[in-house]
Amino acid sequence: MSPQGQRVVVIGNGMAGARVVDEICRRDPAARVTVFGTEERPAYNRILLSDVLAGQRRHDEIALTECPPNVVQRLGTSVVRIDRNARTVVGEDRSTTQYDALVLATGSTALVPPVHGIAGPDGLLLSGVHVFRTLDDCEAITAAAGRARTAVVVGGGLLGLEAARGLLRHGLRVEVVHGMDHLMEAQLDPTGGAVLRRAVEALGVTVHLGSFASAVTGGRRVTGVRLANGRHVDADLVVLACGIRPQVDLARAAGLSIGRAILVDDGLRTDDPHVFAIGECAQHRDQVYGLVAPAWEQAAVLADLLTGRPASYTGSKLVTRLKAMDLDVAAMGDTAPELADCGGGLEVLSFADPVRHVYKKLVVRDGVVTGAILLGDLSTVGEVTQAFDRATPLPEARLHLLFRGGGDTAPVDPAGLEDDATVCTCNGVRAGTIRATQLRTVAAVALATRATTGCGGCRGVVEGLLRGSAGAALQPVAGSAVGERRSA
Ligand SMILES: Cc1cc2nc3c(=O)[nH]c(=O)nc-3n(C[C@H](O)[C@H](O)[C@H](O)COP(=O)(O)OP(=O)(O)OC[C@H]3O[C@@H](n4cnc5c(N)ncnc54)[C@H](O)[C@@H]3O)c2cc1C
Repeated sequence: MSPQGQRVVVIGNGMAGARVVDEICRRDPAARVTVFGTEERPAYNRILLSDVLAGQRRHDEIALTECPPNVVQRLGTSVVRIDRNARTVVGEDRSTTQYDALVLATGSTALVPPVHGIAGPDGLLLSGVHVFRTLDDCEAITAAAGRARTAVVVGGGLLGLEAARGLLRHGLRVEVVHGMDHLMEAQLDPTGGAVLRRAVEALGVTVHLGSFASAVTGGRRVTGVRLANGRHVDADLVVLACGIRPQVDLARAAGLSIGRAILVDDGLRTDDPHVFAIGECAQHRDQVYGLVAPAWEQAAVLADLLTGRPASYTGSKLVTRLKAMDLDVAAMGDTAPELADCGGGLEVLSFADPVRHVYKKLVVRDGVVTGAILLGDLSTVGEVTQAFDRATPLPEARLHLLFRGGGDTAPVDPAGLEDDATVCTCNGVRAGTIRATQLRTVAAVALATRATTGCGGCRGVVEGLLRGSAGAALQPVAGSAVGERRSA
């Protein structure tokens, strides 16, 4: 079967599904693609839901790029069955669609903890209790916030803190209940979590750590959350941000191999050669990613394969850059080692200024950066990311990775960034690629390279690069302007 002209069906019109459709059509404008999406809306940037909740963007401002015209979009239609023998998918409207290649991009659902009183016998959440995953969820929380005065967010990871930030902006009193001993334990070590807690509390949020919710209280409407230690936290709005569960039911019913998610190889292929999986529903080399950069990297690899180009996905080296309650955070690699672990080639350098909400940590093994946390001051993030990416031995002096000369905390002038420094971590776009476009506006650069179109945190750096390159003689660098396949 020639890859060109084959019928591709994509299940899921989220961040991974919409991207693979776009990537396929960029490579083969005549591609025959059908995409199914449970959500009725055109694809949108899920990362920016927090900004919508905080009232900083309207919902129509977070749309992803328009679907190419030759693609058949089946919005508001869930696929309910896959028939692998007939190579068809069955929609909830009983339609049958034939495929040569099937892409599962079904993402995750929000985890609802098995807590007493959280849902009725019909399985519906108690009135006033919400999850935070879709634009519909976002609108429901916004409407509920208008009627509420106090809110509890269950979960102190990135999503929970984003929800807390949004609710604060609606003028609510907000308390965060977190079962672990420190906030954002997936990205931060205990000291980083403690510094973040001070920053969160300074904004007026009460934080309960090591506190599992044991019950949601209220009859017709929620009245609060009872903690495992017996304490009751009053609330007339509860937002659950307790993690995610990959959506694998469809794949499991079709007899595909499932671990924590759908198992795929380096060709993103399941154990059926005609069926692929990408994004949060896929498990590759034992990793299930919960971030957009790997999903978009996988989409580019799969688009290559489905249009007859050689490619393989070997995993994503993650640099997480985000804002937690307006505090900049960057985390990468293995950040667990503590100062006491130093020795035998392992070095840990750290600096904490809890009052100013700054924490920095560098983990070095045999002279190579293998992990780092930067919280509250990202002035050296370019150098640290580069050292981590390149994995080349550091010079004996390491302090420049934590502090710029004179303790200057202003970000590095982007004009000085080396060409291979990653600028947009969501899309893996490097400084050299942006310079090579010779474009002059952020919008034009976004169109050509996709930089700034993920979380948008790199916008200032892109602006700086454009300022720096204005009038300068520009040399093209290797690599295409679109689809750079590297996740940061
Ligand atoms: C509020 C919020 C903030 C976030 N912030 C960040 C961040 O700062 N940085 C970051 O990297 N990541 C962030 N994430 C995570 C990021 O959004 C996800 O990693 C990304 O959306 C995963 O893409 P996906 O396509 O695998 O899943 P999704 O985007 O969830 O898309 C899956 C789609 O498939 C549809 N679907 C499922 N089953 C079917 C079916 N049977 N038929 C048809 N359609 C189906 C679903 O309805 C959904 O629309 C955030 C997430 C949220 C909710």
